[in-house]
Amino acid sequence: MELKICHLYPDVLNLYGDRGNILCLQKRLEWRGIECRVDYVKLGEQSDLTGYDLFFIGGGQDFDQEILLEDLRTRKGPEIGAALEDGRTFLCICGGYQMMGHYYETAEGEKCEFLGAIDFYTVGGKKRMIGNYAFRLGDESGGSTVVGFENHSGRTRLGSGVRPLGKVLKGYGNNGKDKTEGVRYRNAFCTYSHGPVLPKNPAFADLLLETTLRRKYGACTLEPLQDQFENLAHDTVLKKI
Ligand code: GLN
Repeated sequence: MELKICHLYPDVLNLYGDRGNILCLQKRLEWRGIECRVDYVKLGEQSDLTGYDLFFIGGGQDFDQEILLEDLRTRKGPEIGAALEDGRTFLCICGGYQMMGHYYETAEGEKCEFLGAIDFYTVGGKKRMIGNYAFRLGDESGGSTVVGFENHSGRTRLGSGVRPLGKVLKGYGNNGKDKTEGVRYRNAFCTYSHGPVLPKNPAFADLLLETTLRRKYGACTLEPLQDQFENLAHDTVLKKI
């Protein structure tokens, strides 16, 4: 078995150790003897995105989001949309999450037209939403508790037919109002959680791997790993907040 991972815009979208999510996925596959290849597809690069099983997009500041708009529209956007509809796995963080929606309007009123691959939009506010936070994944995403760190100005509102990734237990999540966090659409998992999110949430990391392996190889149950340090990190953060 082998998974092919694509890290999109690693040169532009990568905040608060987001790249650690890739390292975590690589390690959790390696520890189980499953092969993994990671490719990095940067701004300005034209690349065939059809062969990837899992895509990762990290977070970025408003400025970073603005500079990739042209590339998104003319190069990568259509293939990203096709991979999403085809059930490939996506993990998208904060600015990378916002990119999957219709648009992001900054607090200053500048509008970034994004992919519109998932039905939601984001509008910036003056007060940033910052801090450690926790949310519970929806039942269709395994129901585990996720701890993370958020720092965003954007308030995200989901379309009526779109489900959130989880429910906020502590912190702001999508907009600080309706207790929703992130979005789950097909096999896309979008969240505001930096940190990186996966190393201290091993159940979430394995959910992504299982989802991806199942799509590619059919039935799959991952061998459990010795997660005492990961779980200790998770529980320590949860207690603190
Ligand atoms: N620019 C976005 C916001 O502030 C995303 C920030 C981020 O990725 N941390 O809402």
